[in-house]
Amino acid sequence: MIKKSEIKKKINLILELQKNGVTNSKVLKVMEEVDRDLFVDDNLKQKSYENIALPIDCGQTISQPLIVALMTQYLDVDKSMRVLEIGTGSGYQTYILSKLVRFIYSIERYKSLSIKAYDLFKKLKVTNIFCKHNDGGLGWKEQAPFDRIIVTACAQDIPGKLIDQLSENGKMIVPIGDQYNDQLLKKITKKKGELIINDLVNVRFVPLLEGKESK
Ligand code: SAH
Repeated sequence: MIKKSEIKKKINLILELQKNGVTNSKVLKVMEEVDRDLFVDDNLKQKSYENIALPIDCGQTISQPLIVALMTQYLDVDKSMRVLEIGTGSGYQTYILSKLVRFIYSIERYKSLSIKAYDLFKKLKVTNIFCKHNDGGLGWKEQAPFDRIIVTACAQDIPGKLIDQLSENGKMIVPIGDQYNDQLLKKITKKKGELIINDLVNVRFVPLLEGKESK
């Protein structure tokens, strides 16, 4: 349970999200319900409700709450949907989405991050998240097509294999750009075989890398 002293910080964070374009009431509700400190290591827990990205294991990051909320809002999900996520990381974005969709399939290239997130989901008694340790760029063929795909690491180009696994009228939210700078969040909608691409906001993500890590 969240400590009383943290409640004020959390309320301020929700107000900050609202000020910065998060208007969807369902998204705001889950951002308020979910305790971000569950996904953060002990030494950083006091920073859990600050609107900043924080380091996690393997040199990766738990995304900034505003970006998690905006990506969730842009993804435009409902309770009937099956969603693919690339980059489980801490599992924070995965858990937020699990409360808004039917099933979420999440892939992480670091084995230890994938296991840590999986164990946490088990502890939280989640039943609609499926985790896989693999190169997410390959997607999850056996479970395709997906109504929505969210990529939480920055791709250099539109990931073709993931587009193949997107259903008709499906949407993908993906940061595209340089490894560290000039990254733009994009929404890609698949309509009659064509891709409609919308630019959303500037972001800063760790890179989407090929292959997987056994550590
Ligand atoms: N949504 C996560 C973000 C984690 S950072 C969170 O809020 O915690 C991005 C994650 O993407 C990292 O854990 C990184 O290891 C992972 N990643 C990068 N390239 C990947 C790939 N090709 N396949 C799967 N995961 C990848």
